[in-house]
Amino acid sequence: MTNNNKLRNFINGQWQYAGTERYLKVVNPATAVTMTHVPLSPALEVETAVQAAAAAFPEWRQTPAGDRIQPLFKLKMLLEEHLDELARLITNECGKTYGESVGEIRRGIENVEVACGIPSLMQGYNNEDIARGIDEHMFRQPLGVVAAVTPFNFPLMIPLWFLPYAVATGNCFILKPSEKVPMSTQRFFELVEQIGLPAGVLQLVNGGKEAVDALLDHPAIRAISFVGSTPVAKYIYSRGAANGKRMQCQGGAKNPVVIMPDADLDTAVRIMADSAFGCAGQRCLAASVAVTVGAAQTTFTEAMAAAAASRKVGYGLEETVQMGPVISADSKQRIEHLIGVGEQEGAKVLVDGRQRAVAGYEDGYFVFPTLLDGVHPDGELARTEIFGPVLSLMHARDINEAVALVNGRAFGNMACIFTSSGAAARHFRYAADAGNVGINIGVAAPLAFFPFSGWNESFFGDLHAQGRHGVEFYTQTKVVVERWPQEWSRQF
Ligand code: NAD
Repeated sequence: MTNNNKLRNFINGQWQYAGTERYLKVVNPATAVTMTHVPLSPALEVETAVQAAAAAFPEWRQTPAGDRIQPLFKLKMLLEEHLDELARLITNECGKTYGESVGEIRRGIENVEVACGIPSLMQGYNNEDIARGIDEHMFRQPLGVVAAVTPFNFPLMIPLWFLPYAVATGNCFILKPSEKVPMSTQRFFELVEQIGLPAGVLQLVNGGKEAVDALLDHPAIRAISFVGSTPVAKYIYSRGAANGKRMQCQGGAKNPVVIMPDADLDTAVRIMADSAFGCAGQRCLAASVAVTVGAAQTTFTEAMAAAAASRKVGYGLEETVQMGPVISADSKQRIEHLIGVGEQEGAKVLVDGRQRAVAGYEDGYFVFPTLLDGVHPDGELARTEIFGPVLSLMHARDINEAVALVNGRAFGNMACIFTSSGAAARHFRYAADAGNVGINIGVAAPLAFFPFSGWNESFFGDLHAQGRHGVEFYTQTKVVVERWPQEWSRQF
């Protein structure tokens, strides 16, 4: 390993190699070829970054909000200009198709755009004469040094759920990206370097658990945003909160979708195939379970099996490919094992994506679309997040039975329904135990000006990512009650 194939950290406005010999390989999941190496930064790197952030904060906080957003306008422009290059990097490190990579960057850019409205979004409110001659004001002030820890499946979009809001509201921000997909983040920070932020305002520390623990324990860090699996979300939430930090931790998912007999079948199948198999099922808003109601059992099952079997799997930079590999050999093994668990629990494998290879990419971590029928609602497969291109089918007699299946699980990231009945849709919207609900939508991803609202085991905290929630998360409210006695103003 030479310096040419090692990634660096961006601390205090400088690119620097981490003070460690511990590096992980960054592997292209379509080819299994090592592309570079990422440092497992020690706690000392976090300490240096926090000191730089704390030093930058007083001046950044005093910079007027209208000036603070100017670098974000530049960031938007640079992201647009480098869209193709960044999308190719994401496909190569993450496996998703080029179109999916472009889509994630566009969703990230939306957050930059929304954060450019901070001068309005972070306004407080006030009342004159709350008592005679006394006025009261609420101001929003930044917290100070804040951080985010992000997962592998959206290397750029998820950091952008947080970073623009944190910086625009006057905080200094440290990102610890996923060690599995650090290359697009590295390139992103090379763009950040050009937007004119003062040193220490925005920093990148690569690494794994040691770096995360150092963030969780550092007394100067006021708030941490996390996105990843539920066990890690719980750990991070509890350790950060025990250290007195403001926390928002988004966890895993197992998203059910109800298919009513009156749904438009072609639309439902097309959208569901993208929801279940798009990004190789590695979206936290992927459909994982389809609950068919009544006659939809036969029609949907047959059409979905055809859609699963015909999806083109391969290297995501090839134009006709509709689905790429999963992130790693471990992931492939885990997903294939879980399909076996479902089979042992009595499900029928209608379309089997195990042990399949893509010609020319035989070493890649490919799992083909898989459809399991008759999955037991209380079994291990039905309770476990698969995070792969696997759709489980369950069947219900009516909408009430379907809603009971939807609500009988621990996660609450997303629930959807396909129907042409307004009454069924309204009932579902009202009753579904999930924070993001889709009606004739397969991936109910909120736009940047709405919160990303997972519930239950999918979220730990109060304020969610994006939009107004992001502004509230990164600011603390100060209320000022003010009296200026009349006699003091007589001189005027
Ligand atoms: P992960 O939990 O393994 O890792 C996420 C981050 O936590 C990484 O940066 C990693 O370095 C760090 N980490 C991992 N183990 C840690 C530990 N023991 N201590 C401290 N830090 C640790 O998740 P992943 O595999 O990268 O991402 C996939 C998961 O993320 C899935 O469960 C998916 O549902 C979830 N996800 C959720 C959302 C959401 O909005 N709810 C969005 C995207 C992904």
